[in-house]
Amino acid sequence: MRNAAAIISQLRQDALRTLTPPPRLTISEWADRYRRLSPESSAEPGQFRTSRAEYQRGIMDAVTDPTVDRLAVMSSAQIGKTAVLENVIGYYISQDPAPILVLMPTLEMAQAFSKDRLSTMLRDTPILRGQVKDPRSRDSGNTMLHKTFAGGHITLTGANSPANLASRPIRIVLGDEIDRYPASAGSEGDPVNLAIKRTATFWNRKIILTSTPTIKGLSRIEHAFENSDQRRYHVPCPDCGEYQVLAWANVRWDEDRPETAHYVCEHCGSCIDERHKTAMLMAGQWIAGAPFTGTAGFHLSELYSPWRRWSDVAADFLQAKHGGSEMLKTWVNTSLGEPWEDQGDAVEPVGLMARLEEYERDDIPQLAVSAGVDVQKDRIECSVVAWGGGEEAWLLEHAVLPGDTARPEIWQDLHELLTDHEPHAVAIDSGFNSSMVYTFCERRRFAFAIKGASGFDRPVVEDATKRARRLRNRRKIGGSPVQIIGVDQAKVLVHSRLRQVQPGPGYIHFSEAAGCDDEYFAQLTAEKLVVKHHRGRASQEWVQQRPRNEALDSFVYALAALRLWGGLAAVIARKERAAAMPAGEAPAPSPARRQLDQIIKDRKRQMNGVTRGSGSFVSSWRNN
Ligand SMILES: [Zn+2]
Repeated sequence: MRNAAAIISQLRQDALRTLTPPPRLTISEWADRYRRLSPESSAEPGQFRTSRAEYQRGIMDAVTDPTVDRLAVMSSAQIGKTAVLENVIGYYISQDPAPILVLMPTLEMAQAFSKDRLSTMLRDTPILRGQVKDPRSRDSGNTMLHKTFAGGHITLTGANSPANLASRPIRIVLGDEIDRYPASAGSEGDPVNLAIKRTATFWNRKIILTSTPTIKGLSRIEHAFENSDQRRYHVPCPDCGEYQVLAWANVRWDEDRPETAHYVCEHCGSCIDERHKTAMLMAGQWIAGAPFTGTAGFHLSELYSPWRRWSDVAADFLQAKHGGSEMLKTWVNTSLGEPWEDQGDAVEPVGLMARLEEYERDDIPQLAVSAGVDVQKDRIECSVVAWGGGEEAWLLEHAVLPGDTARPEIWQDLHELLTDHEPHAVAIDSGFNSSMVYTFCERRRFAFAIKGASGFDRPVVEDATKRARRLRNRRKIGGSPVQIIGVDQAKVLVHSRLRQVQPGPGYIHFSEAAGCDDEYFAQLTAEKLVVKHHRGRASQEWVQQRPRNEALDSFVYALAALRLWGGLAAVIARKERAAAMPAGEAPAPSPARRQLDQIIKDRKRQMNGVTRGSGSFVSSWRNN
């Protein structure tokens, strides 16, 4: 009997122990006690220390603050954000099991996170070891993208994959890099909203959204941060002790010497050296800039990062500034963690007029020539462009050919114009008088019938596999092959290049001889990128400011033609090889190689009656 009583007492003790909640820890306390960083994913493996980047404490502990329902972390890269997300996951698995959703921009990124981050944490952090069964063990019921543990489970998915977004209820949502999500998960709608909907049944839900921002007015994380209490990290000056937010404007360096970068206190003007940063961060505090209504917002720039020096940030800035507006935008987003404000995205035609040059085709370091053709009812407009390394461009001619595009005469004019310039590739808009365009292109290699499609996530030209598949399918149904051009992205690219002031990669050269007059520049700058709001969601749209824009379209098509031809990289590689080879020592091709070349030549001749084997547009062109 005594024995039985002892057993019952033991059982009761065990039951009580399982019922006793684990000690109430904040996430930073949990991480400082239990979390180990893995060698594969951390430059500093071993025990995690919140104090290594003290600002992480406020972010992590907001997650376990019962009054906080949502977090918006708008930040630069390099501030340790991923470790924070991992700690949140580890905490909930070990301290407060719950259904967790980790949402990444793409399925591939979710897989990489699971493999490189989550599984290494589960392996190397002792308190988590054994909590989640290894997916390799039979009957674990676990996969790379779905893992169960006592009291909860974790699902990882991509915002481009709607299937996983609409099933089970979720208590903890971690949305990472939300500015890189597509506008819609398939046809299901905004992926962030889909994820949030799944938390509806939990009173104690947590929605944690993080990202580097993108474009002002369009950025998801900017929107979330603006609706938060907007906390910024204030650090004291080592000289006067006054607290301040680290601002880029106060980073100074000697001209052209970013390695001399230091911080100037906004209160006492004293020059603060990098070596004080650690102490300043340790003494820092988060201060809200707006009333709290359930969402804790955090902003951080690279200036706070213990892993980046101010001199590194300054050097990056100088490089980005030199590289033009696209690089500067990336720097503002990823180093300052701030949304990029496009200066209206309108380019002033007057500014372009001022940079007219004189150049001869023979003087241009050209690697290829392409043409873009816009077809209207009563005329054809054609831009012929020479391209150098890094797609530096020289407009050779913008021609307007008048005539009825339903009649063959004007197409003969186009043929003659192109014969003059001998472009490697031509792209012709097939939106108007399509059959004439198809006929024209069918007889010529490297003449592409194209169709513009909208959508800012659509690339200028599709990748080779997609294009090949599309062409096969078109042929199956007897249609003419048409290439889809992502015009929105192409126009963004052209506009950013028009704003570039330094000749070099990306720069566009114009000359009066090429036909660049007031009207040409007015057309080239006829469209403006504006932000529109529809049902509460912001989106970008190109809006035409004046009736005609053919110069812009033609230039965009010439760029598309170059990329469809796809030979620029090959030409550069060939030239580099030729340059590297000592003169007069070009090795003769081996007999096997000569044989192979002959076979290829013959086959091309059979397949394409007009091609004489050189594989260029020009050769087939001349023979038409
Ligand atoms: Zn000071």
